[in-house]
Amino acid sequence: MRLMVHDGKNELKILSESPLLPCGTFRQGVTPDASSSPLDSPFRRKLLLLAGLSSLLPISAVARTAAAAHTKPHTPLHAPAILRNVRPPPPLVMLDPGHGGKDPGAIGYSGTYEKHVSEAAAAELERQLLATGRYRVALTRSSDRFIPLEGRVEMAQAHKAALFISMHADALHDPDVRGASVYTLASAASDSQSALIAQSENSADLFGGPHVHATSPAVQQILASLVTEETRRGSAHIANSVVSSFHSRIALLPHPQRHAAFVVLKAADIPSVLVEMGFMSNRNDEAALRQAGHRAMVAGAMRDAVDRYFATTRIGIG
Ligand SMILES: [Zn+2]
Repeated sequence: MRLMVHDGKNELKILSESPLLPCGTFRQGVTPDASSSPLDSPFRRKLLLLAGLSSLLPISAVARTAAAAHTKPHTPLHAPAILRNVRPPPPLVMLDPGHGGKDPGAIGYSGTYEKHVSEAAAAELERQLLATGRYRVALTRSSDRFIPLEGRVEMAQAHKAALFISMHADALHDPDVRGASVYTLASAASDSQSALIAQSENSADLFGGPHVHATSPAVQQILASLVTEETRRGSAHIANSVVSSFHSRIALLPHPQRHAAFVVLKAADIPSVLVEMGFMSNRNDEAALRQAGHRAMVAGAMRDAVDRYFATTRIGIG
């Protein structure tokens, strides 16, 4: 007699001259357990039941099977109602205002500190994201304090963030250069300007003193290679969304979507982006970023980008 069973993936064949005899051959890599009686095998019991040959099962096996079939599931009656109401929490967006404490960041044309601009802009974006009711929001800092770059990444991982957004307004040597730009992590910079910005951002840890070790360029390149492909796609997706949102509202650098080896973007499993909202070295950008109304417009564009990102990706949801 030959019995054949499909388990959905493999076809398992049992070849036997008689149903009373132990099965002779298991195919598809399934090995019979020689130490137990073939009739005691749960797999064989199932086969015999399926074939209408339950009388061939040992009495104890039939009894166990029959008892199981007539036993009501031991589940508290109220549990299903509670389970139906359990919904996954909204995705957590981690905002990272650049610099802080003894690290002022860039110092603007008229003396504005980047750390104050980034903190105020992050607080506004937090407010706007929470107002949608669709997200949880956490900040790496909500006061003027120094946090090493590594600590910022660790905070995002500890919160299981679905998205990490670092917010800056740095300075360039050329005071005429103005406009926002958006960066993702890569071992090689997209252009020399981005390489300089990454170098400047990564040197923030020097403010931490001897107990905070700045990451060497060689290690930064290795870190970039550890980011998963899914995270890389997510980072490119949010960068693209931010640039699209800025397009009609905020002045942008030429080719505003760029990449470089930023240490703060190195979380292997969290899509991460760094937004330069403008340059403090430019008189117009600095003046604009000092205005709450302009920061609200920048934050509004970023909120729309976050909305578009989560509306078109499953990353971090459920
Ligand atoms: Zn910065």
